[in-house]
Amino acid sequence: MINIFFDVDETLVARDGNSYHLRPHAVEILFRLKKHKYMVYIWSRAGKKHADFIVDSFGLRPYVDDTFTKPPKIDNYTSDYLKKYITALPSFIVDNGDHLFNIDVPNFKVRSYDEPDEYDIDLLLVYKKIRKIFR
Ligand SMILES: [Mg+2]
Repeated sequence: MINIFFDVDETLVARDGNSYHLRPHAVEILFRLKKHKYMVYIWSRAGKKHADFIVDSFGLRPYVDDTFTKPPKIDNYTSDYLKKYITALPSFIVDNGDHLFNIDVPNFKVRSYDEPDEYDIDLLLVYKKIRKIFR
């Protein structure tokens, strides 16, 4: 199984007051990842509930295998540490923050999506990298 993990805030969505904007190409790439049989997980430090809220708000459920609470920040994410919080280990991580990338897992650090931008293409680049590594 190839497990692709997406962060929520500023990775998949931008917050705009009380509403959220989905990053461009999110539906398209999640659809394509599932079509290629990757496992897709969404995790958030704000909690599983927040991840579920975003997944359901934007109709992403058909493309998502599960949601998790992202573990608290530590210096070194090891498999043993992650296993205490999640049932699948990441094969690839997509996040706007640095903190996760000291785990030895391929990743893509997206630019922080902090305001709606219809021209943003980072998720297309994420998809390209995933397909390059795991085809
Ligand atoms: Mg984030």
